[in-house]
Amino acid sequence: MKGIKLHWQILIALLLAVVAGVVLGEKALLFEPLGTLFLKALKMIIVPLIVTSIVTGVANIGGAESIGRLGLKTFFYYITTSLFAILVGLMLVNLIGPGVGADLGLKASTEELTRTMQEHYSGSPWATILGIVLRMVPTNPFRAMVEGEMLQIIVFCILFGYFITRVPEPYGGRMAGLFEAGFQVMMKLTHFIILFAPIGVFGLVAKMVATSGVGVFRDLGVYVLTVVAGLLIHACVTLPCLLLVLGRGVSAVKHFRAMAAALLTAFSTSSSSATLPLTMESVEENAGVSNKVSSFVLPLGATINMDGTALYECVAAMFIAQAYGVDLSLGQQFIVVVTALLVSIGAAGIPMAGLVMMVVILKAVGLPLEGVGLILAVDRILDMCRTTVNVWSDSCGAVVIARTEGETLKV
Ligand code: ASP
Repeated sequence: MKGIKLHWQILIALLLAVVAGVVLGEKALLFEPLGTLFLKALKMIIVPLIVTSIVTGVANIGGAESIGRLGLKTFFYYITTSLFAILVGLMLVNLIGPGVGADLGLKASTEELTRTMQEHYSGSPWATILGIVLRMVPTNPFRAMVEGEMLQIIVFCILFGYFITRVPEPYGGRMAGLFEAGFQVMMKLTHFIILFAPIGVFGLVAKMVATSGVGVFRDLGVYVLTVVAGLLIHACVTLPCLLLVLGRGVSAVKHFRAMAAALLTAFSTSSSSATLPLTMESVEENAGVSNKVSSFVLPLGATINMDGTALYECVAAMFIAQAYGVDLSLGQQFIVVVTALLVSIGAAGIPMAGLVMMVVILKAVGLPLEGVGLILAVDRILDMCRTTVNVWSDSCGAVVIARTEGETLKV
């Protein structure tokens, strides 16, 4: 497949995997190790990549004032887009009413899962906020790295990068040079692993098709369509408008082309964290965003900015309320919006994180936690879709922030 652009290679692999999954059925599970190997390789590079990248990026940004400005801008942008996404979801779910009058019997197999979720997540919305804040500061940065605690790694690396600029020469320069060198090596390694994306995607998707049937869509079709419609509006209308206005003329189509390989990988892996190496490479190499901005904005985005997840949480909670015949008041819908936002910030960029966090919202508005069982069957496919929107939104964020910092881009 040499000579064909990477995103086309991935797309062809994805389609072949669907065919293999349908034709071979369970036998397609033979390809699973290819997907597992690719995912492991991606996960292997995440921590060293973001550590070297953030330290280098922050050391280059320089003064506390610039870091503060960039941080505030990024945070504000991410919160705003997630809120937009939730409101689109809320509007659609009220208009379409996918759960109204739905007759969805709970399946026994889901009860156990719901029980384990209850045991793990008993927090209120405020406990969720406090939890996020407390979780941000590591007691041991090395443990944070070993355990892949992204938010903690980000906090430590920002501080480390900043204080590199505060120590006198020759120390500051030496340290910055060391991390810069590490970063260059990590980018080369990332590039190498990305070459295997088509093979990895083939394995992941073939397994998915082989193990999940299509029957589930009968009962939950309207619900799935509501979530997908919301995601499409957010990805194809809201974010492109922001690219045009805040990004001062950035073309969504060109940016989409620049990001295609990363988006297809997000779709296949259902993990924005695992996709991060590809997101960074595409944003820098294809969209032309500086490392200074992308190394700061993207790891943060993969951790706290999940527009797709936020929208999904809102639609799913409302769907469950409708299915149980509960009429949520305006006040309760407001709580759904706020908790959906918090949950999307707190959810990890891994598969099914959004589903697990659903419990927080259901608790906040007093809906039965078993409701999660209703939407379990279609979560995998929705996870793929919402993760793609999560990564798309992160990349749009990087471009918008880069433009507001006065950068000239390729998109
Ligand atoms: N899988 C999503 C992600 O990694 C999170 C979620 O489950 O919504 O972005």
